[in-house]
Amino acid sequence: MEVVGFPKGTNGKGVGMYEITRRDFIISSAAAAAVLGLNGRLVFIGTAHAQKAMEQGFHRYKVGAIEVTALFDGIWEKPHDPGFIKNATVDETKAALGAAGLPTDFVLVPFTPNVVRAGGRIVLVDTGTGGGQTGGPKAGIMMKHLAAAGIDAGAVNVILISHFHPDHIYGLMTKAPENKAVFPNAEILVPAAEYKFWMDPALIEKLPEARRPLAKRIQEMFPLMKDKVRQFEGDKELVPGIRPIEAHGHSPGHTAFHVSSGKDQLIVLGDTSHIPALFVRNPGWHAAFDQDATVAEATRRKLLDRVVADQIMVTGYHFPFPAVGSIAKDGKGYAFKPV
Ligand SMILES: [Zn+2]
Repeated sequence: MEVVGFPKGTNGKGVGMYEITRRDFIISSAAAAAVLGLNGRLVFIGTAHAQKAMEQGFHRYKVGAIEVTALFDGIWEKPHDPGFIKNATVDETKAALGAAGLPTDFVLVPFTPNVVRAGGRIVLVDTGTGGGQTGGPKAGIMMKHLAAAGIDAGAVNVILISHFHPDHIYGLMTKAPENKAVFPNAEILVPAAEYKFWMDPALIEKLPEARRPLAKRIQEMFPLMKDKVRQFEGDKELVPGIRPIEAHGHSPGHTAFHVSSGKDQLIVLGDTSHIPALFVRNPGWHAAFDQDATVAEATRRKLLDRVVADQIMVTGYHFPFPAVGSIAKDGKGYAFKPV
């Protein structure tokens, strides 16, 4: 996700997170059901379990023999902006948030990277906002939660990147001019189409002003990591049990990941859908940061149809923590049902 007005990070301390959690973010699911009817619960993060996971900062679960640890990197309180969704008004946006039991005075955007232990490797999927480099004052707390989960940054062998928006890659490196690798022993696997798009020296001139700092930072960061970075294409297994799924639209090389072990499957959606209360519920809504919104919508519908048909668990980078659950058909759209 990257959008005009995406906030500069500050200190990454996640100030006030718990106040949001208790006061505004969580209403009991019983209360929600009373207000919204049965369907309301499907998009609702109202469980004591979810609250506990957020306070702990990580949430561990199994996909067959594979262990997944969702890491809470904090949350951005995005101010409303009429340009946020091209084909929905701020009032419609607020109504959709309200219907899901979420606060309506801003859009809550959580960030959830995952660690996947598969095939003897420790794999980090996306890297968070970089300890306050982007995502606002309440984001940037992933590293604290990585440690709380008992995982050493030096032990991460592989990093899979879904796309190059700042909230997904700024965790790779400390900020300039230090530019130190945060995961010194990891091979970094990136989608070739994404790399090609962002690393083109002619790109910066062609981008709108607001996107140029991101492109400049990408073109500064990746050459410094060139011994570690490997581009991938197609759907060949990257790590035993993990394959990429081409999911273009949100960005030119945006990629989801299929994790499987025995009969159990998980699809790491990345930004295929942003906030589920908005874009899973209304898959035809076009977020400003979907670079090709038409392709992004087609990708979103295709992947959501697949996980409904095959009953595959999903995790979404901007889904309410711990960001894992299943998808159901719900009227003209879909509903996210947290575990
Ligand atoms: Zn994002």
